[in-house]
Amino acid sequence: MTEISTHRNYIGGEWRASSATETLDNVNPADARQVLGRVPRSPRQEARDAIDAAVAARAAWRAIPAPARARKFLKIHQVMEGRIDELARALTREEGKIFPEAKGEVLKTLNLIEWFIGEGMRYIGRTAPSEMPNNLAYTVRQPIGTVGLITPWNFPVAIPVWKIAPALIAGNTVVFKPAEATPATAQICVEICEEAGIPAGVVNMVFGDGPEVGDEIIRHPEVGAISFTGSTATGTRIYEAGAAALKKVQCEMGGKNPVVVLEDADLDLAALGTAQGAFGSTGQRCTATSRAIVIDSVADAFVEKVIAHADAVKAGNGLDEGVTMGPSIDERQMNKVLDYIEIGKGEAKLARGGKRLTEGDLAHGFFVDPTVFDEVSRDTRIAREEIFGPVLSVLRVKDFDEAMAAANDVDYGLTSSIYTVDPNRMFRFIDEIETGITHVNSPTMGGEAQLPFGGIKATGVGEREMGPTAIEFFSELKTVYIDYTGSSRKSNIY
Ligand code: ADP
Repeated sequence: MTEISTHRNYIGGEWRASSATETLDNVNPADARQVLGRVPRSPRQEARDAIDAAVAARAAWRAIPAPARARKFLKIHQVMEGRIDELARALTREEGKIFPEAKGEVLKTLNLIEWFIGEGMRYIGRTAPSEMPNNLAYTVRQPIGTVGLITPWNFPVAIPVWKIAPALIAGNTVVFKPAEATPATAQICVEICEEAGIPAGVVNMVFGDGPEVGDEIIRHPEVGAISFTGSTATGTRIYEAGAAALKKVQCEMGGKNPVVVLEDADLDLAALGTAQGAFGSTGQRCTATSRAIVIDSVADAFVEKVIAHADAVKAGNGLDEGVTMGPSIDERQMNKVLDYIEIGKGEAKLARGGKRLTEGDLAHGFFVDPTVFDEVSRDTRIAREEIFGPVLSVLRVKDFDEAMAAANDVDYGLTSSIYTVDPNRMFRFIDEIETGITHVNSPTMGGEAQLPFGGIKATGVGEREMGPTAIEFFSELKTVYIDYTGSSRKSNIY
């Protein structure tokens, strides 16, 4: 039997064994008999050591011009390209998403890196006309210093990279705490940075618990900004702690994303997009579709088509050929989904699924049958709370206005979609929907590197990630006034 190894922290350019006395097992969610590795529950002091290393590396990294910092990501891109399959396999093994989705995530990450490399040359300010003659006024962007990155398990390659890349290109050094459930992918990402020649101390990674390692990163006075993706409960706590210390904070949190299906929609397209959004990646995307808001007259046909897609889902180990849906990330998450299903049974009509899958080898993993609830009313928990599993709630409505009211009647505001061919209601939807991202005639998920990603309401605070706004979060603006008259004739300073 091969020995199960414990992941090491990466501090100041060295892979250091944690002094932790306790570890967490990294279990394959498709087969819990398989322990893939152990995650140290690093003590607070190791987070401090990582922050010290990041502080020590600051001046030299900041002194490298932004285009040259960004160019280092050309090498990261090249190294990652050589490890695509390895990274995707590790991702499937520890997170559970099927191999094609895992590979898709890695390819998307490469795409993100391409965007951010260009940002090194666009990392600029503006000039503005001054009120004074012979004066030049402009803004320049500068690094914050050291930033803390705290990430979840559901996109354990893409999310860390879409934070690390703009943070570094903006001239910061980082301390990164990956999710407890996905250490292997985090380790590979950091190995890639190392192999690509990112200098020691510029990227540091510490494994451990949120309330210990994560908390230290958030509170440490040398950490000037925090970028977090995860649950709304944790994000709210981080935002509060950041606010108390007047730090910049960016949180991307939960969602309850609606698809609105009007009576003129292409129902086949709408049902396919909804099923992909609801059951794809086991419903464990922040952008997953969890509500379908459907006009009454087409609801029967729509639900039938969605159920047909759910029937075609083949759950299993994501590395096996033909499998189309993986497990929940762990037992706790599966139980949370099953609890919501039980709640749903008391609140609405169960139209499909509604149970754990335990046939054959599935019994060793954390699989939930794709589930559809029909005739869900707006005030139910399954219509309002994030479930993060393959569960869809269908709300039937009489017209567009009722659909809009239902779509906006949640705390969250990440993404949304409408299926219609009517330009009038299409644009009204775009105007009125309370989400940071919206789609027309396509599923709720997906995001392109060059466009901002993020939500409003209880979903997001701070600047948008990805796109041109990403780098703004990781930098401070300095406004500069230069008087080049050579004399002191300024009179109207007020
Ligand atoms: P999930 O329920 O999906 O684990 P969390 O929001 O709890 O979502 O976790 C997302 C990330 O936040 C993880 O890396 C986790 O360790 C971290 N985290 C959890 N609690 C805290 C905390 N109190 N302070 C800082 N980070 C935390």
